[in-house]
Amino acid sequence: MNATPNITSPAAEISIAFDARAELEAWVAAGYPHETCGLLIGRRRGERTEVERVEQARNRNTERARDRYDLDPDDQLAADLRAREDGLEIVGIWHSHPDHPARPSETDRSKAWEGWSYVIVAVTADGVADLRSWRLSASSDPSRFVEEPIR
Ligand SMILES: [Zn+2]
Repeated sequence: MNATPNITSPAAEISIAFDARAELEAWVAAGYPHETCGLLIGRRRGERTEVERVEQARNRNTERARDRYDLDPDDQLAADLRAREDGLEIVGIWHSHPDHPARPSETDRSKAWEGWSYVIVAVTADGVADLRSWRLSASSDPSRFVEEPIR
């Protein structure tokens, strides 16, 4: 791949704790060929997002579980409460793209919240192929997704 496109803020980046990333990749691989989803828990320091742990949530979209996810709101609420108990917060959402690239779909973009990070994991029958993070642009066009580097 070439350089990351269209980073609006040079400071925008995300870090994912080693254990959290390993856990996330294991869930995604185990869930194949279905889309799996969940929350990113951590903290935000300015434009930098630090993911300390991940939580899995139920995908309520059982009809199109291969290419759609609807995060269970009860699971999201429970994750939010647990995060607050630890002085953390929900900083984003992760979901998988079975047999598709780790790039946001139009549906992903339309559902996204400003300020949250959206980690997308590409997965095939062979396992996790790619993991990228996106967030809505903070600049002139807030409807645009930009990739944020994972450090
Ligand atoms: Zn998606």
